[in-house]
Amino acid sequence: MKILVINCGSSSIKYKLYEFPKRKLITKGLIEKIGERNSSIQNHSQGIKELFSRLIKDKILKDINEIAAIGHRVVHGGETFKAPIVIDAQVIAKIKDCSSLAPLHNPANLEGILGCKEVLPKIRQVAVFDTAYHQTIPDYAYSYAIPGEYYKKYSVRKYGFHGTSHQFVAHKCAEVLNKPLNKLKIITCHLGNGCSVAAIDRGKVIDTSMGFTPLEGLIMGTRCGDIDVAAVFYIMEKERLTIQQMDEILNRRSGLLGVSGISNDIRTLNKEVKKNNKFAKLAIDMFLHRIKKYIGAYHLILDGADAICFTAGIGENNPAMINKLKKHIHKIAPKVKVLVVPTDEELMIASLTYGLLNNTSKSKKD
Ligand code: ADP
Repeated sequence: MKILVINCGSSSIKYKLYEFPKRKLITKGLIEKIGERNSSIQNHSQGIKELFSRLIKDKILKDINEIAAIGHRVVHGGETFKAPIVIDAQVIAKIKDCSSLAPLHNPANLEGILGCKEVLPKIRQVAVFDTAYHQTIPDYAYSYAIPGEYYKKYSVRKYGFHGTSHQFVAHKCAEVLNKPLNKLKIITCHLGNGCSVAAIDRGKVIDTSMGFTPLEGLIMGTRCGDIDVAAVFYIMEKERLTIQQMDEILNRRSGLLGVSGISNDIRTLNKEVKKNNKFAKLAIDMFLHRIKKYIGAYHLILDGADAICFTAGIGENNPAMINKLKKHIHKIAPKVKVLVVPTDEELMIASLTYGLLNNTSKSKKD
């Protein structure tokens, strides 16, 4: 059966079409500039229609009804969604409820779901949440040490993100080591533009570095990661910044970009380090230092990890950097396997969609 995976961003739609159960990628593509001035595509609904007509025009499909199911990436599932789910009216309403937790992402994800429903009203759709895989984190790890009323009133707690990638990498790691996942303790490090670490105890996440939003934790391309919040108040006061201005600084102008003053791209920074640029060197040293701190902490909370996996743009393409980290890891934990495992979030979404629909149709028959 053909499964389409859709990832709707605020101004783009990424898609991949698979053949299951072979898990074979048939085609992939990107619809960009949605809603921009001069763009022929003004909203996600139009974008989805464009996507379907492309599949026909490019002769990938003869009829869009050949698509058996659609898996959607949805960023935030709050505490409601602990696993992928078949989308119905109730699920749509609950995803809407979670929108206040991810105001830039969930509305776009929803528009994609509704757009598909408009074109293919009977198609089976599944929502796969970035946050869901982290829902096994215990309360003492997901709670912030602030008055409890803010959790009760506003659901302020750690959620974690990149869950689908951590899940994919953990499964692959078990495959590579030829051991069942439920016998392994794994630290997965997703190092892309956004970066996060997860501690996975026999298939269940027990902690992760991103928090209430993706800002917490590791130093990223343009996000600062962990910071003393009092320093943020101090800067805001000195510079008379609004909340929005400070948010923009911490999310878009910090991290590798903010420290180096040059770029958020590790490739550019590596070149600059060779030219003795001290700010590029500082940015990379800080980046690695923060990763080491999290790996050290997660090694302890797991009572010793069996494997540490690196993935995503930085993790997959910087062998020298990963070797440096490996040497450090082996100083304190010589037996830990250190692996580079390419991630594939879309394939994970397609597999989860396939698995869920197969199970539901089986249990309906039973
Ligand atoms: P996203 O989080 O946007 O999906 P990616 O996982 O693609 O990001 O990671 C993007 C980052 O990965 C880039 O900013 C760059 O630092 C790094 N990267 C990507 N490709 C390479 C490469 N070939 N060599 C070194 N670094 C790379």
